Amino acid sequence: DSVFAHVVRAPEDPILGVTVAFNKDPSPNKLNLGVGAYRTEEGKPLVLNVVRKAEHQLVNDSSRVKEYLPIVGLAEFNKQSAKLIFGADSPAILENRVTTVQCLSGTGSLRVGGEFLARHYHERLIYIPLPTWGNHPKVFTLAGLSVKTYRYYDPSTRGLDFQGLLEDLGSAPSGAVVLLHACAHNPTGVDPTLEQWDQIRKLMRSKQLLPFFDSAYQGFASGSLDADAQPVRLFVADGGECFVAQSYAKNLGLYGERVGALSIVCKNADVASRVESQLKLVIRPMYSNPPIHGASIVATILKDRDLFNEWTIELKAMADRIISMRQQLFDALSARGTPGEWSHIIKQIGMFTFTGLNSEQVSFMTKEYHIYMTSDGRISMAGLSSRTVPHLADAIHAAVT
Ligand code: PLP
Repeated sequence: DSVFAHVVRAPEDPILGVTVAFNKDPSPNKLNLGVGAYRTEEGKPLVLNVVRKAEHQLVNDSSRVKEYLPIVGLAEFNKQSAKLIFGADSPAILENRVTTVQCLSGTGSLRVGGEFLARHYHERLIYIPLPTWGNHPKVFTLAGLSVKTYRYYDPSTRGLDFQGLLEDLGSAPSGAVVLLHACAHNPTGVDPTLEQWDQIRKLMRSKQLLPFFDSAYQGFASGSLDADAQPVRLFVADGGECFVAQSYAKNLGLYGERVGALSIVCKNADVASRVESQLKLVIRPMYSNPPIHGASIVATILKDRDLFNEWTIELKAMADRIISMRQQLFDALSARGTPGEWSHIIKQIGMFTFTGLNSEQVSFMTKEYHIYMTSDGRISMAGLSSRTVPHLADAIHAAVT
């Protein structure tokens, strides 16, 4: 008998499992709104034109080799990534007090940051929003931190529970780490306003709470890379320390290339360089060094003015298509006279709408309409098109009536 005979079957991942179920469904009308991956109006995955151009350049450059990258990844990629999130004229960068290391997309950046904190930070407690991306608690728990939640979303208004957030962070122990979604909060699509961000910042700084930003959607919320980076820049501008995990999965469509970065903003250059030396000790036994291809694509685009400008236009087009899907879905429900208040569909931002549908309604829509989404009622607006909006609106209408 197998030495693994006792191994029990694990449940599917709550998000990626939606795609597994979708793939098994033979219906021609099936619709996958589970995973947060951008689709064109034709329902196809998109490789950005600038990515094709950058890859073309890379392939035709015969001087390029496949040697290992350093433990911290591609230097040009790290430099450009810090500029992208903190701003080209960021004093923290100019003062050399930011360390940036290339990691395996957003998830890997969160994990490396979490492991560093567990080893070197005095308070091994991280607060994450309720709700949050399902992988957050697992990543940080396995990194060695203990995880608590702070109130974030108010189901009754389908908006931010700002009072609850301030109360919970206000009663957190001094020094605790706080995970913040830089923009386009997943799964709710609800972000604080800039004024609210500044209140959060003041409260956190007054209590020495350490900000850890997860920036998985820069450019996707508003269509502007700079506007979506404002909350992070607000925290960096006060001179305090913070962590940022960046992902290029969504904004450059590099999902499977696994390209991202962890930046740690420190008080001074000396601390930053010692922190970086310790990050290497976290990374080396974990995966030795990161992959070269995706980071080379990003570096090629970010350092070239023309490619960069072309990217901003393609990114804006993706964001605009998502925004127009929100309007179309809202209009379709209004036209059907679907009971309930649906304005949150157009108020929420980023890739997802947190519909407010419960898990029975979700199961009903999957069974009767072959529409797939996570059981919390989150739908990926990026997976919708003008052609599929009526089908979704019919399904929602039937589910709530
Ligand atoms: N953080 C949030 C909030 C996300 O939604 C995602 C992806 O869905 C990630 C991080 C990490 O994604 P990746 O590891 O593909 O960059």
